[in-house]
Amino acid sequence: MTLLTVERDLQDAPPQEVLAWALEHYAGRIALACSFGGPTGIVALDMALEIDRSVPVYYLDTSLLFPETYALVERIVERYGIAPVAVRPEISLAEQRAVHGDELWARDPEQCCSIRKIEPQRAFLNGYDAWISGIRRDQSPYRSAAQPVAWDEAFSLVKISPFAAWDERMIWTYLRAHDLPYNELHDRAYPSIGCTPCTRSIGNGEATRAGRWPLFAKTECGLHV
Ligand code: SF4
Repeated sequence: MTLLTVERDLQDAPPQEVLAWALEHYAGRIALACSFGGPTGIVALDMALEIDRSVPVYYLDTSLLFPETYALVERIVERYGIAPVAVRPEISLAEQRAVHGDELWARDPEQCCSIRKIEPQRAFLNGYDAWISGIRRDQSPYRSAAQPVAWDEAFSLVKISPFAAWDERMIWTYLRAHDLPYNELHDRAYPSIGCTPCTRSIGNGEATRAGRWPLFAKTECGLHV
Protein backbone atom coordinates (compact mmCIF):
# COMPACT_ATOMS: atom_id res chain seq x y z
CA MET A 1 0.00 0.00 0.00
CA THR A 2 1.46 3.38 -0.96
CA LEU A 3 1.55 6.35 1.36
CA LEU A 4 -0.92 8.11 -0.90
CA THR A 5 -3.40 5.26 -0.52
CA VAL A 6 -3.02 5.29 3.25
CA GLU A 7 -3.42 9.07 3.34
CA ARG A 8 -6.70 8.72 1.49
CA ASP A 9 -7.98 5.71 3.46
CA LEU A 10 -7.27 7.23 6.87
CA GLN A 11 -8.33 10.76 6.05
CA ASP A 12 -11.54 10.55 8.07
CA ALA A 13 -10.55 7.76 10.45
CA PRO A 14 -10.80 8.22 14.23
CA PRO A 15 -7.49 8.94 16.02
CA GLN A 16 -7.31 5.46 17.55
CA GLU A 17 -7.48 3.88 14.08
CA VAL A 18 -4.78 6.18 12.71
CA LEU A 19 -2.56 5.48 15.71
CA ALA A 20 -3.15 1.72 15.52
CA TRP A 21 -2.15 1.68 11.86
CA ALA A 22 0.92 3.85 12.39
CA LEU A 23 2.16 2.02 15.47
CA GLU A 24 1.88 -1.34 13.72
CA HIS A 25 3.18 -0.24 10.33
CA TYR A 26 6.15 1.68 11.75
CA ALA A 27 6.74 -0.50 14.82
CA GLY A 28 10.16 0.29 16.25
CA ARG A 29 10.61 3.16 13.79
CA ILE A 30 8.12 5.70 15.15
CA ALA A 31 8.23 8.20 18.02
CA LEU A 32 5.58 10.34 19.67
CA ALA A 33 6.22 14.04 20.26
CA CYS A 34 4.51 15.52 23.31
CA SER A 35 5.22 19.13 24.24
CA PHE A 36 3.49 18.85 27.63
CA GLY A 37 2.29 22.34 26.78
CA GLY A 38 -1.06 21.46 25.23
CA PRO A 39 -3.84 19.00 25.98
CA THR A 40 -3.73 17.21 22.62
CA GLY A 41 -0.30 15.72 23.25
CA ILE A 42 -1.54 14.16 26.47
CA VAL A 43 -4.53 12.58 24.72
CA ALA A 44 -2.21 11.32 21.98
CA LEU A 45 0.13 9.85 24.55
CA ASP A 46 -2.72 8.15 26.41
CA MET A 47 -4.21 6.60 23.27
CA ALA A 48 -0.84 5.55 21.83
CA LEU A 49 0.33 3.87 25.04
CA GLU A 50 -2.97 2.01 25.20
CA ILE A 51 -2.05 0.46 21.84
CA ASP A 52 1.71 0.09 22.24
CA ARG A 53 3.48 0.62 25.57
CA SER A 54 6.87 0.65 23.87
CA VAL A 55 6.45 3.71 21.64
CA PRO A 56 9.15 6.28 22.53
CA VAL A 57 7.74 9.57 23.85
CA TYR A 58 9.90 12.66 23.59
CA TYR A 59 9.75 16.38 24.24
CA LEU A 60 11.95 19.27 23.22
CA ASP A 61 13.58 20.48 26.40
CA THR A 62 14.81 23.96 25.47
CA SER A 63 15.84 24.61 29.10
CA LEU A 64 13.24 27.40 28.98
CA LEU A 65 10.06 25.49 29.74
CA PHE A 66 7.69 26.52 32.53
CA PRO A 67 7.98 24.80 35.92
CA GLU A 68 4.39 23.60 35.37
CA THR A 69 5.51 21.86 32.18
CA TYR A 70 8.35 20.03 33.91
CA ALA A 71 5.91 19.13 36.71
CA LEU A 72 3.54 17.61 34.15
CA VAL A 73 6.36 15.46 32.76
CA GLU A 74 6.84 14.07 36.27
CA ARG A 75 3.13 13.36 36.67
CA ILE A 76 3.12 11.48 33.36
CA VAL A 77 6.15 9.46 34.45
CA GLU A 78 4.31 8.45 37.62
CA ARG A 79 1.01 7.67 35.93
CA TYR A 80 2.28 5.67 32.97
CA GLY A 81 5.64 4.41 34.17
CA ILE A 82 7.34 5.70 31.04
CA ALA A 83 10.51 7.73 30.65
CA PRO A 84 9.91 10.55 28.15
CA VAL A 85 13.11 11.48 26.33
CA ALA A 86 14.21 15.07 26.92
CA VAL A 87 15.61 16.13 23.56
CA ARG A 88 18.04 18.96 24.23
CA PRO A 89 19.95 21.45 22.09
CA GLU A 90 23.63 20.95 21.36
CA ILE A 91 24.44 24.16 23.19
CA SER A 92 23.44 25.31 26.65
CA LEU A 93 21.77 28.66 27.32
CA ALA A 94 25.11 30.03 28.51
CA GLU A 95 26.82 28.92 25.30
CA GLN A 96 24.01 30.43 23.24
CA ARG A 97 24.43 33.70 25.11
CA ALA A 98 28.18 33.68 24.53
CA VAL A 99 27.82 33.06 20.79
CA HIS A 100 24.62 34.93 19.91
CA GLY A 101 24.24 37.44 22.72
CA ASP A 102 21.74 37.68 25.54
CA GLU A 103 18.09 36.77 25.01
CA LEU A 104 18.32 35.67 21.40
CA TRP A 105 14.59 34.89 21.54
CA ALA A 106 13.83 38.60 21.96
CA ARG A 107 15.80 39.55 18.84
CA ASP A 108 15.71 36.56 16.52
CA PRO A 109 13.21 33.92 17.67
CA GLU A 110 13.59 32.05 14.36
CA GLN A 111 17.23 31.41 15.04
CA CYS A 112 16.55 30.60 18.69
CA CYS A 113 13.85 28.06 17.73
CA SER A 114 16.18 26.61 15.14
CA ILE A 115 18.91 26.06 17.71
CA ARG A 116 16.74 24.92 20.61
CA LYS A 117 13.91 23.05 18.84
CA ILE A 118 14.29 22.34 15.14
CA GLU A 119 17.82 21.01 14.95
CA PRO A 120 17.47 18.92 18.13
CA GLN A 121 14.29 17.35 16.73
CA ARG A 122 16.02 16.72 13.40
CA ALA A 123 18.87 14.96 15.15
CA PHE A 124 16.52 12.92 17.32
CA LEU A 125 14.29 11.79 14.46
CA ASN A 126 17.24 10.70 12.37
CA GLY A 127 16.79 6.93 12.22
CA TYR A 128 13.00 7.02 12.62
CA ASP A 129 10.58 6.61 9.72
CA ALA A 130 7.59 8.40 11.28
CA TRP A 131 6.66 10.73 14.10
CA ILE A 132 3.35 11.44 15.82
CA SER A 133 2.31 15.03 16.36
CA GLY A 134 -0.63 16.61 18.16
CA ILE A 135 -1.44 19.35 15.67
CA ARG A 136 -5.05 20.07 14.77
CA ARG A 137 -6.66 22.02 11.95
CA ASP A 138 -8.66 24.19 14.34
CA GLN A 139 -5.55 25.52 16.10
CA SER A 140 -4.72 28.17 13.48
CA PRO A 141 -5.25 29.01 9.81
CA TYR A 142 -1.67 27.85 9.24
CA ARG A 143 -2.59 24.36 10.46
CA SER A 144 -5.93 24.16 8.68
CA ALA A 145 -4.63 21.79 6.01
CA ALA A 146 -3.15 19.23 8.41
CA GLN A 147 -3.75 15.61 7.40
CA PRO A 148 -3.70 12.49 9.59
CA VAL A 149 -0.97 10.91 7.48
CA ALA A 150 1.43 12.96 5.36
CA TRP A 151 5.01 13.14 4.19
CA ASP A 152 6.94 15.66 6.26
CA GLU A 153 9.27 17.52 3.90
CA ALA A 154 10.98 19.43 6.69
CA PHE A 155 12.18 16.35 8.54
CA SER A 156 12.08 13.80 5.70
CA LEU A 157 9.84 11.20 7.30
CA VAL A 158 6.14 10.45 7.66
CA LYS A 159 4.15 12.67 10.01
CA ILE A 160 1.14 11.22 11.79
CA SER A 161 -1.38 13.77 13.08
CA PRO A 162 -4.25 11.62 14.41
CA PHE A 163 -6.13 14.63 15.80
CA ALA A 164 -6.05 16.75 12.66
CA ALA A 165 -9.86 16.79 12.50
CA TRP A 166 -10.53 17.06 16.23
CA ASP A 167 -11.28 20.37 17.93
CA GLU A 168 -10.44 21.77 21.35
CA ARG A 169 -13.77 20.66 22.84
CA MET A 170 -13.31 17.04 21.72
CA ILE A 171 -9.82 16.96 23.23
CA TRP A 172 -11.00 18.27 26.59
CA THR A 173 -13.97 15.90 26.60
CA TYR A 174 -11.63 12.92 26.20
CA LEU A 175 -9.12 14.31 28.67
CA ARG A 176 -11.72 14.83 31.38
CA ALA A 177 -13.54 11.55 30.69
CA HIS A 178 -10.27 9.71 31.27
CA ASP A 179 -9.15 11.94 34.12
CA LEU A 180 -5.84 12.66 32.41
CA PRO A 181 -3.29 15.05 33.87
CA TYR A 182 -2.75 18.33 32.08
CA ASN A 183 -0.58 21.42 32.35
CA GLU A 184 -1.85 23.54 35.25
CA LEU A 185 -1.24 26.71 33.26
CA HIS A 186 -4.25 25.81 31.12
CA ASP A 187 -6.39 26.81 34.11
CA ARG A 188 -4.68 30.24 34.11
CA ALA A 189 -5.51 31.30 30.54
CA TYR A 190 -2.53 29.64 28.88
CA PRO A 191 -4.18 27.32 26.33
CA SER A 192 -0.95 26.88 24.35
CA ILE A 193 2.35 26.74 26.21
CA GLY A 194 5.89 26.92 24.88
CA CYS A 195 8.99 28.51 26.36
CA THR A 196 8.69 31.02 29.20
CA PRO A 197 10.06 34.06 27.30
CA CYS A 198 7.74 33.47 24.34
CA THR A 199 4.42 32.60 25.96
CA ARG A 200 1.86 34.79 27.70
CA SER A 201 -1.69 34.20 28.88
CA ILE A 202 -4.53 35.20 26.56
CA GLY A 203 -7.46 37.51 27.05
CA ASN A 204 -11.15 36.90 26.46
CA GLY A 205 -11.87 36.20 22.83
CA GLU A 206 -8.24 35.78 21.78
CA ALA A 207 -7.24 32.80 19.68
CA THR A 208 -5.72 29.89 21.58
CA ARG A 209 -2.27 30.49 20.09
CA ALA A 210 -2.37 34.28 20.49
CA GLY A 211 -0.07 34.03 23.52
CA ARG A 212 2.80 32.53 21.55
CA TRP A 213 5.57 34.95 20.43
CA PRO A 214 3.23 37.87 21.20
CA LEU A 215 5.79 40.51 20.16
CA PHE A 216 6.43 38.98 16.75
CA ALA A 217 4.48 38.01 13.65
CA LYS A 218 5.87 34.51 14.20
CA THR A 219 3.14 31.94 14.96
CA GLU A 220 5.04 28.65 14.64
CA CYS A 221 8.35 27.38 15.96
CA GLY A 222 9.01 25.64 12.65
CA LEU A 223 8.22 22.07 13.65
CA HIS A 224 5.03 22.09 11.57
CA VAL A 225 5.66 23.43 8.10
FE1 SF4 B 1 13.71 30.28 21.80
FE2 SF4 B 1 11.26 31.26 22.24
FE3 SF4 B 1 11.69 29.40 20.33
FE4 SF4 B 1 11.83 28.77 22.93
S1 SF4 B 1 9.99 29.42 21.79
S2 SF4 B 1 13.25 28.13 21.37
S3 SF4 B 1 12.77 30.64 23.78
S4 SF4 B 1 12.45 31.53 20.40
